[in-house]
Amino acid sequence: MEKDTDVTKVIKQHLEMEQSFSGFAPKGKTVPLNPQQQQNNPLPGEIKAMTDPEKTAELQKIAEEVQQCRKCDLGSLRTNAVPGEGNSNARIMFVGEGPGADEDAQGRPFVGRAGQLLDRIIKACGLKRSEVFIGNILKCRPPENRDPRADEIINCLPYLQRQIEIIEPEIIVALGAHAARTLLNTTKSIGQLRGQFHEYYAGLGRPPIKLMATYHTAYLLRNYSQENRRRVWEDMKKVLTELGLPIPEHSTG
Ligand code: URA
Repeated sequence: MEKDTDVTKVIKQHLEMEQSFSGFAPKGKTVPLNPQQQQNNPLPGEIKAMTDPEKTAELQKIAEEVQQCRKCDLGSLRTNAVPGEGNSNARIMFVGEGPGADEDAQGRPFVGRAGQLLDRIIKACGLKRSEVFIGNILKCRPPENRDPRADEIINCLPYLQRQIEIIEPEIIVALGAHAARTLLNTTKSIGQLRGQFHEYYAGLGRPPIKLMATYHTAYLLRNYSQENRRRVWEDMKKVLTELGLPIPEHSTG
């Protein structure tokens, strides 16, 4: 999860972010994930840009349950729960670890610095935030952004599992070790898991969903090397190729 960093480093990274994962001219014509779903980003906790009212209603119901949830202590510590947001027909679903301070304040996933980098990655893929779904393993912020505890994951995971069942994305992108390990039920490191497709099992009778693990954007901010940026971009290119989407041409700086 996002940790405090010194101001000079933050400014340097911000300038680098301006050049990396942003402003890339797509090589070919960008094919939107679903041309009918190009609307503005959703409001906090709101599931917009839908063409499927049933899925929308089901996701909204989960969001309401999450907002009432007191299954663990995090429920009494939060300012806002962060159920997740995006397109109910998304072909790609990004899953992070849990809300940080900015997300807790706004009730929306990935809106802080790690979120801004995720936005750039999504844009670099030729996509819009409103075309994907963004969620987390935990729906409430752990104090001081500490790692999620096992009991918290056990209580919270069913919300994400239900969101995945409803959305039925073609690909899940697990951001970081906590998301990847939880969804794949493994203790392997993110270094071992990233860069290749795995299978997420959504339940009996349901086909497995392809899962790409990659570095969490907060990790990437803390370890902002060209090599790490290249690795994330390689992972995302595999996702685009798998979906039959064009790969925009750019450099990871
Ligand atoms: N980090 C996460 O894992 N999730 C968020 O929503 C924001 C930061």
